[in-house]
Amino acid sequence: MTMHDTPGAADPITRFNGVFIDNEWHPPASGKSLDVTDPATGAVFARIAAGNAADIDAAVGAARRALSGPWGRLSATERGRLLSRLGQVIETHRDDLSRLEARDTGKPLDQARGDIDTAARYFEYYGAAADKVHGITIPMRPGLHASTEYVPHGVTGHIIPWNYPAQMVGRSLAPALAMGNATVLKPAEDACLTALHLAELAREAGFPAGAINVVPGRGEIAGAALTAHRGIDFISFTGSPEVGTLVQVAAARHHIGCTLELGGKSPQIVFADADLDVAVPAVIAAIVQNAGQTCSAGSRVLVDAAIADGFTARLGAAFSRLVAGAPAQNPELGPVINLTQHRRVQRYCAMAEADGIPLIAEGRIAEGAPAGGHFIPPRLYGPVPPDHPMAQDEIFGPILALLTFRDEAEAIALANGTDYGLVAGVWSADGSRALRVARQIAAGQVYVNGYGTGGGVELPFGGIGKSGHGREKGFAALYDFSATRTLVLRHG
Ligand code: NAD
Repeated sequence: MTMHDTPGAADPITRFNGVFIDNEWHPPASGKSLDVTDPATGAVFARIAAGNAADIDAAVGAARRALSGPWGRLSATERGRLLSRLGQVIETHRDDLSRLEARDTGKPLDQARGDIDTAARYFEYYGAAADKVHGITIPMRPGLHASTEYVPHGVTGHIIPWNYPAQMVGRSLAPALAMGNATVLKPAEDACLTALHLAELAREAGFPAGAINVVPGRGEIAGAALTAHRGIDFISFTGSPEVGTLVQVAAARHHIGCTLELGGKSPQIVFADADLDVAVPAVIAAIVQNAGQTCSAGSRVLVDAAIADGFTARLGAAFSRLVAGAPAQNPELGPVINLTQHRRVQRYCAMAEADGIPLIAEGRIAEGAPAGGHFIPPRLYGPVPPDHPMAQDEIFGPILALLTFRDEAEAIALANGTDYGLVAGVWSADGSRALRVARQIAAGQVYVNGYGTGGGVELPFGGIGKSGHGREKGFAALYDFSATRTLVLRHG
């Protein structure tokens, strides 16, 4: 990614080449822009503003003013209506947004369409929820009336990654706005065009100035400035554990709360009695989706030794039919986001091969896929020793590690044997066993006989350990984006 003086060249998309503050586009204070490359071709196709600390300061100021302006005076019901309207506006722009998302992230077009629908669904869901967050009354001695209510933090800062830009805007901003916060978003430099487009659509939906401000730019410049800004009252961060640590330290320096949604090394436990007709495609989908660049990717499959040979043969056969290609080729998976990520994934594969871990099966790259694209054929390795980096590290690519277990206790120990704790899948026809095992998995969410099923906007989501803390999605996010205020009235 290189810096240019604005304005950029005529060819790349420059429509979103600014910072969005107070419902208007402004040139960035740096006067610079960043190139955005298409992961499927490696070619520059857009420019975005290189926001810096001055832009963040202006955005925080706009958000602060919004809290005491028209935005802050809206009732919960009125905020909810605006959110619902934004959901509808997103749907009317579904085709444009999906194409932009596919180009920016490299994902297949039908997956990008699903992402846009999910982004709209977040606004619909939190629009309907905005006026349903009730406090309680607490029995006290006579003469006292005690109650609670949920109040917004104030200005919330949001830092999101490049893997699901549109979805992340919905997931992070919608609950914060529903609770009455004013927001400043720093999207990821590698893919953020739909995030910028959504800011403009929020204005079209009628959001007052300052409720949503977006400052793109480099993480260590714009992101760090946001986390360090004294005018921020809460931070929601989604990204890597390394940067999450920096964010939490920055939040601690000015005594504010934060939600960290970090990585994962999520296991799928397949018992001998599992329905493999359902489990095999689900295990594949969980690692292939978004070319494995999903925090909740099922990147380890733990198989009962009793069925390991048959299962591995079946999984391997399905793996070798997978095709990676450009969005236009309608493949099962697209490229990884950039050259750095491509090299990182290849390094893990080289390490596995150098350490003698068998490559069980490998998909292929589509014929005619652009030469400059960052494609990686999906690969299945196994058996992988539990302490090998391939079984421990989040690789963030279409690489699946297969391990075997002999009994339930070993399955649980392996599942819990990493620093992460985001998602797990348990596959068994024995309902009691599935529940018993699920309850012993150290992860924020466990799926039985499915994985990520149901879309999940309604389901609280988050991690433990190196996967982070706090919850987004569902009603849980509304509580994280607000503080409980206790009111006690002495009477009589
Ligand atoms: P990243 O941590 O490199 O970047 C995430 C965001 O942080 C970007 O916007 C980036 O610009 C910003 N950033 C970078 N340095 C910063 C700094 N010093 N201060 C403030 N902000 C900074 O992560 P990534 O590579 O973009 O995303 C991949 C990671 O995100 C993976 O670990 C993945 O598992 C995780 N992720 C987690 C979830 C979840 O819900 N748990 C969802 C998606 C992605």
